[in-house]
Amino acid sequence: MKKTELMYEGKAKRVYASDADGICIVDYKDDATAFNGLKKGTIAGKGAINNRVSNHIMAMLETHGIPTHVVEQLSDTATAVYRVEIVPVEVIVRNIAAGSLSKKLGIPEGQALKCTVLEFCYKNDALDDPMINETHAIAMGLATKEELDIISGYALRINDILRAFFLEHGIELVDFKLEFGRKPDGTIILADEISPDTCRFWDSVTHEKLDKDRFRRDMGGAEDAYNEVLRRLMGE
Ligand code: UDP
Repeated sequence: MKKTELMYEGKAKRVYASDADGICIVDYKDDATAFNGLKKGTIAGKGAINNRVSNHIMAMLETHGIPTHVVEQLSDTATAVYRVEIVPVEVIVRNIAAGSLSKKLGIPEGQALKCTVLEFCYKNDALDDPMINETHAIAMGLATKEELDIISGYALRINDILRAFFLEHGIELVDFKLEFGRKPDGTIILADEISPDTCRFWDSVTHEKLDKDRFRRDMGGAEDAYNEVLRRLMGE
């Protein structure tokens, strides 16, 4: 399978068309951004780590019956994925208060939440990905009620699977972001990535941060943290 033209360049990935029908090629970059692109930098080796981590997690989710866009890894940084229309609703799942939730609601970071919190955001950089509810998403035509029910069901199942999986590797899954896509026949599948760029991972004993917050908050050690997640998941 070969890349053909560049279809889209995002903050952390390039998406290419391919010579295979219905398949795109995603190429992960070392570029890191935060605060909707205001802060820019690079994390050495991030592209290859996120490619492997995300593919490993998605393969594991497939064994639990979650359909994903992953077809096959092609190189260190590139993966073949099903071509989908991305549903422009980011789904955030939270187990422990952190980040924007702590800021907005005044809940101390690290406080356990009494139930899983599910949030939707309208995927729109110009508007800074505003939080919306289900009726906004339906009213704006971003997704149907049926699609949102499927997406919410998957998000909660993914959370249950991932919490247990990461805990086995000494990692607490604080929160994470998911994106879903529609295949040409309308089937909803998990798309985008699941990696230290899109999740908050804390060491389950020391609560040390092992994710992009090290970059966002200028803490240093982002490369080491991303490598540590890879090492724990792959046993390397
Ligand atoms: N997140 C993401 N992309 C976004 C916004 C959030 O991957 O555009 C992830 C983020 O890494 C964290 C979770 O979603 O794991 C919740 O993020 P939050 O709303 O706290 O926003 P942040 O503090 O990242 O601005």
